[in-house]
Amino acid sequence: MAKGEKVEKKAAKEKVVTCTDKNCPFHAGLPTRGIVLEGVVASDKMDKTAIVQRSYYVKLKKYDRYRPKKSRIPAHNPPCIGAKTGDTVRIMECRKLSKTVNFVIMEKLQAVGTAR
Ligand SMILES: [Zn+2]
Repeated sequence: MAKGEKVEKKAAKEKVVTCTDKNCPFHAGLPTRGIVLEGVVASDKMDKTAIVQRSYYVKLKKYDRYRPKKSRIPAHNPPCIGAKTGDTVRIMECRKLSKTVNFVIMEKLQAVGTAR
């Protein structure tokens, strides 16, 4: 029953890319909630997983200056989005998909090589 519903939903959406990923927020209905972040893809070498790097500044109270910091977040990269290294993406928190992955790429904000 549930299986049939899923197929119907997929057909109704009429996506050019046929997405069979079971952890896709759009085609498999992966629930997302919580934090929304933006970052640059630092690596797309893993299968359906990308490393999203964020750079930001943290204020050092003692010296009244800022120091650059970065964080690298492993995020699920659905085949229908297919983010590549250098792409700017928006990621959103979701349930734990593996030991380290608990974010999913929601959209590509800027593809690599395109001017802002
Ligand atoms: Zn998809």
